[in-house]
Amino acid sequence: MRSVFYPHLVNGPFGDPALYVRLAYRGEALLFDCGELTPLTTRELLKIRTVCISHAHIDHLVGFDTLLRAFLYQDICLLVCGPPGMAERVAGRLAGYTWNLIEGYPLVLTVREWGDPAGRQVSFRAANAFRPEEGPPHPCPDGLLLETPAYRVRGVPLDHGGIPSLAFALEEPLHVAIHKDALERCGYRPGPWLTRFKDRVREGNRGEMPFTVPLESGGEIHPPLAVLTRQIAHTERGMKVCYVTDAAPVAENLQKIVALAADAHLLAIEAVFEHAELERARLRNHLTARLAGTLARRARAARVLVFHHSPRYLDCPEKLADEAREAFELKGGEGKTAPDGA
Ligand SMILES: [Zn+2]
Ligand SMILES: [Zn+2]
Repeated sequence: MRSVFYPHLVNGPFGDPALYVRLAYRGEALLFDCGELTPLTTRELLKIRTVCISHAHIDHLVGFDTLLRAFLYQDICLLVCGPPGMAERVAGRLAGYTWNLIEGYPLVLTVREWGDPAGRQVSFRAANAFRPEEGPPHPCPDGLLLETPAYRVRGVPLDHGGIPSLAFALEEPLHVAIHKDALERCGYRPGPWLTRFKDRVREGNRGEMPFTVPLESGGEIHPPLAVLTRQIAHTERGMKVCYVTDAAPVAENLQKIVALAADAHLLAIEAVFEHAELERARLRNHLTARLAGTLARRARAARVLVFHHSPRYLDCPEKLADEAREAFELKGGEGKTAPDGA
């Protein structure tokens, strides 16, 4: 399957958590957690449209000012999703500055909190000096925080020492694969229309709708969407990337993680300590590398990416990734036993 999500850790496995996910063909990106963001270029920052924050510990939110600084002059509505209490945290950050002279700025920040069955939604407009403006609650059926034709984001709260840390699933509702050879055979000229075409296919139920296709020879044709789909594309299960961090190694969290990450193409998951330090992991409410790998295996994830390593492993930087990989690749026993420490 051709990738539609391109994730990378902004600060590597030892730095502050921040997973930048570029969306193919859309000039858009999502950010999972907002640790230090200075390694990102302004161009990369300005592609972000949605920021999903697990919780407001400083290593997950310290980059917020970098983000705000980059977006201040932009005519954009930036969505920030987070656990209950996130609107207050953002209000607090914004209240730390003086905001006269920005009445003409169009930037809007909207904070959407996870809630069951609905969460708070609060907007902060630059034109209103970033004062909080309470909107109607946002329903979160099955943890759904955001849905667009190209992707949706779901959140699940995990226990992190008595506070919720949200884990996220970023999913493509349906993957539409284009057959390049069919495009050539039909004489269709590739271009941005293919992204619009994929969105229409994902919406479904519009098979009779004529769709404009540019031709290599010049001009265009207008076949019905269903005919065009049969000619140049096929559909399959969409891509899924999960982001899990700052979770206590307790049974309820582990079950929730396996359910959220089921059949993910990539599980990005914290691996703070080696499993020999499980007691320390319990005290600090974090996962071990072996747990991370085991959870990825139990969820049948295709790949696992570990991060949020404790600095105590800086002199053996591969140790945690190796331990996670070993547990991930372990054969047999899937789904039979709970991981150690469950
Ligand atoms: Zn934390
Ligand atoms: Zn953390």
